[in-house]
Amino acid sequence: MPKGKMLLKVCHLYPDLLNLYGDQGNVLALVRRLQWRNIGVEVRRVNQGDTVDFRGMDVLFLGGGSSRGQDLAAGELKEQREPLRATVEEGLVVLAICGGYELLGHYYRNPEGRIIPGLGLLDFYTEAGPERLVGDIAVEMTIYGKPVLVTGFENHAGRTFLGRTNPMGRVLAGYGNNGQDSTEGARYKNVFCSYLHGPILPKNPRLADHLIRLALQRRSLPSRLTPLDDHLEALAGKVILKRLLRHKKA
Ligand code: GLN
Repeated sequence: MPKGKMLLKVCHLYPDLLNLYGDQGNVLALVRRLQWRNIGVEVRRVNQGDTVDFRGMDVLFLGGGSSRGQDLAAGELKEQREPLRATVEEGLVVLAICGGYELLGHYYRNPEGRIIPGLGLLDFYTEAGPERLVGDIAVEMTIYGKPVLVTGFENHAGRTFLGRTNPMGRVLAGYGNNGQDSTEGARYKNVFCSYLHGPILPKNPRLADHLIRLALQRRSLPSRLTPLDDHLEALAGKVILKRLLRHKKA
């Protein structure tokens, strides 16, 4: 039985429009890691045309998408801007990947030169470049002051340039936000944006647990998490990093 009143609500926003390269595995990773700790979890899939109460959610997930999916999601999100902005300011935990990430900034200029407006919740913009940035990627981010290795797979035309918003991490190998300034993703309050598919959370359990902890803290629930056996994920991350650094030198 789940512990007392502990119940987290995970919202998968527009799985019908934004869901590439196994992105929904991120939702699955959150669900499993909560269930393994006997914490109740509910998943709400919000599709095109559905209404959503952001305040009632604990973790909001947005995946990547095709140009068409991204376009449609931008139209949907426009209507939700104010409630989403207010809930983000109050500490809603958000994970946004690739196309979903780009939608939280000012705009995405697609390969045809057309501007897809973003919500402007975070201070960055994205412009498509001539080639796609594709491959495995390793990043170092900071969680509670400690360096944490994060690995994944990226595939994006967009080059994101941050304004006042901080990056989520620093690229160790791969392209990241734009292939130039070694930044990867964006981080603001409890919002984490990244180009890393993979999906990112099953590959990087420390980040998954960080999101869970932040969501529990937002509800003033006990946030000390029972440790899980993640040694295979840690090992896999180190192997990828070593391989990527070897290729970089060669
Ligand atoms: N618009 C995105 C890009 O930069 C879409 C890619 C994605 O979500 N994987 O290419």
